[in-house]
Amino acid sequence: MAHEIFSGESIALEDENEVAGLVADLIRIPSVNTGNPETIGDGEARAARYVCERLAEVGLEATYLESAPGRANVVCRLKGSESALEALLLHAHLDVVPAKEDEWSVPPFAGEIHDGMLYGRGAVDMKNMAGMMLAIARGMARDHFQPKRDIVFAWFADEENGSVYGSEWMTKNHRDMFAGVTNALSEVGGFSITLPNGKRAYLLATAEKGGVRAKLTARGTGGHGALINDDNPVTRLAGAVYRLGQHRFALQKTPHLQALLDGLSELLGVTFHDDTLDAQLDELGFISKTIRASLRNTANPTMLTAGVKRNVIPSTAEAQIDCRILPGTQNAFVEEVLAILGPGIDVDWTFGWTIESPVKSPLVDEMVAAILAEDPEAGILPYLLPGGTDNKLLAKIGIKGYGFVPLKVPDGFDVWGLFHAPDERIPVDALKFGVRVFRRLLRRC
Ligand SMILES: [Zn+2]
Repeated sequence: MAHEIFSGESIALEDENEVAGLVADLIRIPSVNTGNPETIGDGEARAARYVCERLAEVGLEATYLESAPGRANVVCRLKGSESALEALLLHAHLDVVPAKEDEWSVPPFAGEIHDGMLYGRGAVDMKNMAGMMLAIARGMARDHFQPKRDIVFAWFADEENGSVYGSEWMTKNHRDMFAGVTNALSEVGGFSITLPNGKRAYLLATAEKGGVRAKLTARGTGGHGALINDDNPVTRLAGAVYRLGQHRFALQKTPHLQALLDGLSELLGVTFHDDTLDAQLDELGFISKTIRASLRNTANPTMLTAGVKRNVIPSTAEAQIDCRILPGTQNAFVEEVLAILGPGIDVDWTFGWTIESPVKSPLVDEMVAAILAEDPEAGILPYLLPGGTDNKLLAKIGIKGYGFVPLKVPDGFDVWGLFHAPDERIPVDALKFGVRVFRRLLRRC
């Protein structure tokens, strides 16, 4: 039976007290995703078994699913009292990117705490959430708390290398695990920033840009480097790459951007203007880099390949372009890029998914309420993530994903900047805050 045992006062419950230890334990299992089957090892499977053991300790049954040797996913469903309601998914990936130990001031896989900060690879990306989910699930089990709707917890492998053995494999092969799920909460969002006027805002990711790979090939006439050549593919490609790299795509006021700007206007008491928007956003500090990347489509040249010898003009030249596009803009984007490149350049496209979840919904209202209950003066603003997460794979089976890992961090603490960075770290207090927010959310929604 659902019952309200939590008064909302400031008594630290066991879930809050144990969360840092759970995250630290996960950091100490180096589940590094090298992307190479030869070197990847079984870290993800060991982390997944750790999750199962901590759940079993409090009597929670989990399903452990290996997608390949050493690569594992875990799912645990807490049955709701009204199981016919739409289910809610919380998910985190268990893999991490490599860490170069000599760039760190502490060992990256030791899970050490210094001055209230938990250090280690995965502290923000995203063993923080993996551990918070464990703490929440264990807390609910210890309290014999039954939620209203089904709550599904999923820990995935392989997010850092395309999700092939993680959320993609799970949604293809074990779709039943997500039965009834309509919404999902995971990275990248929910972290606080302090605005220039001292007010705090939490950025909730409601959409994600799609990654598009464009491989450009220029073909021409090869020959001796000493002769006149009007059909040199290197020259043609270089011109096209230069034009594309210089091009600034038009500002697109997505509903996510509009809602963010409206919210910022209200909190800051300023009016944003389209022609000065980039400069105005720069005044927000470190977060402006992320927000500015959500204003428009982008196409960044990243790789060039041509030729084998200085005195030989090759007959082909290639470039790779990393493009990131806003929802609903694919056809117009392709047309615009082709016009910039001009004739004589072939393009091989690979399109990723964009996702868009509602900026307003009953669940969003509950997320806002849960944060406000813990941080009453704050603003909660939607934003469009310029990157991608496992939410994209879940979107393919109709699940609306949000970036919501609620973390209240000190002024100037740049959570976004610590993804994949040396000295990745998270304040222990922020983890406790996240547990309190989730506890409220899951007991209300
Ligand atoms: Zn991540």
